[in-house]
Amino acid sequence: MNSLSTDVLVCGGGCAGLAAALSSSRNGAKTLLIERAGFSGGIVTTVGLPYFDGLIDKPTGRFVVKGIALELLHRLGIAKPGAKSIDDLPPELVTKYWGSMWIPSVEHFKILADELILAQRDHLRVLYHSVACGVEVQDGRVAAVMIANKDGLTRVEARQVIDCTGDGDIAHWAGCPTVSTTPLMPLTMHFRIGNVVPVKETKEVAKKVLIAAHQEGRLANFYGPGLIFAFAKDECYVHATRVPADATNAADFTRAEIQGRQDAWTIFNEWKAKVPGFENSYYIMSGPYIGVRDTRRIVGLHVLTLQDLQQTTRHDDAVATGCWFLDVHPPEVSVDKPFTGSGYQPKPYDISYRTLIPQTVSNLLVAGRCHSASSEASASSRVTVTAMALGEAAGCAAALAIRSKDEVATLDGVKVREALSKQNAGPFTDA
Ligand SMILES: Cc1cc2nc3c(=O)[nH]c(=O)nc-3n(C[C@H](O)[C@H](O)[C@H](O)COP(=O)(O)OP(=O)(O)OC[C@H]3O[C@@H](n4cnc5c(N)ncnc54)[C@H](O)[C@@H]3O)c2cc1C
Repeated sequence: MNSLSTDVLVCGGGCAGLAAALSSSRNGAKTLLIERAGFSGGIVTTVGLPYFDGLIDKPTGRFVVKGIALELLHRLGIAKPGAKSIDDLPPELVTKYWGSMWIPSVEHFKILADELILAQRDHLRVLYHSVACGVEVQDGRVAAVMIANKDGLTRVEARQVIDCTGDGDIAHWAGCPTVSTTPLMPLTMHFRIGNVVPVKETKEVAKKVLIAAHQEGRLANFYGPGLIFAFAKDECYVHATRVPADATNAADFTRAEIQGRQDAWTIFNEWKAKVPGFENSYYIMSGPYIGVRDTRRIVGLHVLTLQDLQQTTRHDDAVATGCWFLDVHPPEVSVDKPFTGSGYQPKPYDISYRTLIPQTVSNLLVAGRCHSASSEASASSRVTVTAMALGEAAGCAAALAIRSKDEVATLDGVKVREALSKQNAGPFTDA
């Protein structure tokens, strides 16, 4: 078997993992990033989702996350480094009603991620097409992570490990307590349709066609109308598929991927045949992967709860700020409104460093949507920019632990916050 060693190993190069790897290496730690896809970016690039949610506090319009998320927007040519609010963003890329913004090209994001990683080459190495597939635990530490790729199996020894797999794979395999919500939110296969000429009734007819296809048994679950013209005036970006499944179960995940692809083609064929504006349209692409919203979350040293959000509980060791509404997608048909439940809009809230620390192992942090939060709270803290902020905090913490010969679990979160603050990152909970 092959072997590798590093100071910090980041598993998963998505929203959280990319930020974690950049942050760890920029703070001086020798870092290895592994990612199952052939590129970084997670949901943005593996699913094709352009939204940067969790950046803007909807009622005031101000940014509650800066750091690497803002740097990415700057490097994409969307925001100046000193941008502070929704008014500093191009109006064609924002929806004030949702406090939401998107990037115009997910392919640009892919190459930017590569550039940022390569710029850190003295401290950061990336292995794409590499899947974490097991862990060894000794004396309450992750002694090694097994990865599988074209080299075969490699045993990676790291002093500190950051789990950014979205599913808490490393924490779960290391025996750390995790939870998941019942029912899980559905998976969605995003896809794009080109050469659409939308007219006034396009969205309404598209919705009615989906309802009919469902009632007549041609389409299982869906969200309708579920189409947006985000990338171009004639390009329809579709998020209307909904597949209930457990993505931590290999067989169920495979079934969902197949079902999502089938549903996407059904929707395309129905719209092309029946919706004004779609007559000459063509199917551009989907995925490359079906999108997974919801699986395991660790039960960490602190669990972020709905009460924390409602009472805006302050934490001295806050390392990020969340602000998105409780965005719960039901695993069933929904029309007009994509989410279910209260849709509660919290004020900007603190996220404690301890929500990144799992129980039972001392050299592991878990960042991104699988950090420690109740099902209600994670419906807010799971979004892209919040995940980036949590990843950045985890990377900074791991590098601090390397420098101080500490373990991430015993590191003082206040020190992590102070270090982030010097890098224009960390919490911006107060105006
Ligand atoms: C369909 C869908 C729509 C969404 N809509 C929005 C939206 O509009 N706005 C918004 O802000 N958020 C949205 N979200 C939520 C948000 O995108 C995610 O919660 C966010 O991406 C979480 O970041 P993450 O880094 O934890 O996970 P991800 O960005 O998913 O990254 C996880 C990465 O880990 C990799 N990986 C997984 N397992 C392994 C392994 N064992 N070994 C190696 N690599 C591995 C994956 O390939 C992936 O790159 C949506 C999610 C989905 C699925």
